[in-house]
Amino acid sequence: MEKYLTIYTETRKKIKAFSYFGWLMGWDQETEAPEGSVEYRTKQYQVLAEEMYKIQSDPAYIEAIEYLYAHKESLEDPDFRVEIKNAFKDLRMVKKVPKDELISYRVLTSQASHIWAKAKEADDFQMFAPTLEKIVEFNRKLVKYLETDELKGYDVLLDMYEEGFGVKEYDLFFDTLKKELVPFVLEVTKGNKPKFNRRLKTAIFPKEQQRKFSEYLMEVFSYDLKHGLLKESAHPFTSGVSSTDTRITTKFHEDNLASSIFSTIHEMGHAIYELQNDPKYDDTFLHGGTSLGIHESQSRMYENMLGRSMAFWKLHYPKLVELFPKQLKGISVEEFYLYINQVERSLIRIEADELTYSLHVMVRYELEKQMINGKLKVKDLPNKWKSLMSQYVGKRPKTDKEGVLQDIHWSGGAIGYFPTYALGSAYAAQMYEAMNKEINIEEAISKNNIKAINLWLKEHVHTFASSKSPKEILQICTKQDFNPAYYVNYLKNKFKQ
Ligand SMILES: [Zn+2]
Repeated sequence: MEKYLTIYTETRKKIKAFSYFGWLMGWDQETEAPEGSVEYRTKQYQVLAEEMYKIQSDPAYIEAIEYLYAHKESLEDPDFRVEIKNAFKDLRMVKKVPKDELISYRVLTSQASHIWAKAKEADDFQMFAPTLEKIVEFNRKLVKYLETDELKGYDVLLDMYEEGFGVKEYDLFFDTLKKELVPFVLEVTKGNKPKFNRRLKTAIFPKEQQRKFSEYLMEVFSYDLKHGLLKESAHPFTSGVSSTDTRITTKFHEDNLASSIFSTIHEMGHAIYELQNDPKYDDTFLHGGTSLGIHESQSRMYENMLGRSMAFWKLHYPKLVELFPKQLKGISVEEFYLYINQVERSLIRIEADELTYSLHVMVRYELEKQMINGKLKVKDLPNKWKSLMSQYVGKRPKTDKEGVLQDIHWSGGAIGYFPTYALGSAYAAQMYEAMNKEINIEEAISKNNIKAINLWLKEHVHTFASSKSPKEILQICTKQDFNPAYYVNYLKNKFKQ
């Protein structure tokens, strides 16, 4: 036992160090690196990646994981037991999937995003279809290789992104949305005309002023600048490596004031989660969020439930007006609130509003489920997409660029990933209710005391890092199993006016 523990912890230390440098390179590349630095950096990265592969696939390390897993009952630290369980689960890819199939799939998916991007640009699904067919084919085989008594079919893929959530759980969730939200959206968006000043959409909002407001927001949310920072990147993201260093980016669009505000708040939700992980996990593989769904629950709670609330803007709108006196002259906080909570039947998921967003996700869930089951062929995908969009969101795309080709995910092989986006918002609503029983959230926002909210989430969600499963986190935080009714009620209450 001692011997295997030493091999495991020594190897972990190396992997953590190599990952750290890989992470730093990635951060640099996405934020600051000059364009001409790509080739040289990639050359260095290749060496790093090869070394990393050697360390991770070292037979002694694998043997240690297998031994520790077989003797997990005698491991005293429950966190360490979870870590070993995860490490063992990760080995299944190497052990159950034929190596040449896995490698050729990785090569395929590393090139597929270029093919997808060209197809999208040309609005030509046929250019992408043969590649997507291969990706779907591999995933259908993968599911067979990895199947267990508990996990079958599409469940295998769903579980990779959200442990414990399979078709049974998601069907229940999406059926609720279909029944409750689809008719509600159609009603709310009937004859819908914006009731806010058009200047909000047409004025120019200089980048520098937007940056100042993002800095102000970081203070409001108590995002700790000793352990984090804000840069600009093409697509906003959060990137963290420990409870001592978790950074965010945003994107400033001069013709869209709301974009950078809500990107900054969204990413702070992700970052505060990881910064508030118990520091004892920093040197383990348990640091970080427990799942994509739980991660997204934090970012969406901060962005939508706190950041798009009236209480929030009553307090902070004057600061925005101070930064944009001409653009916002004569525009009331009520009008601004309507602008940031405008609902419409739209085609593009990443631009969708809070109310319709999960219906966009539902389209993708249905399609993935049918493709993995073999009920839907890739060639029939564009038309099926269009009909589901008109059924669920009430708007039918005319082109594939606005339809099946809009998202990058499938080109990278991420099938089973999308549903976590919708789940995150639903978790958030349930957590919000539980928190609101213990602290008056609206009052905390009004008194500029988001610290109290951060602290509550730290104790009930963040501190556990990934030592607990999503279902366990939900139990700890809300003392209940997952229940989508909270989400439906929250949306109906907010958008019925
Ligand atoms: Zn996010």
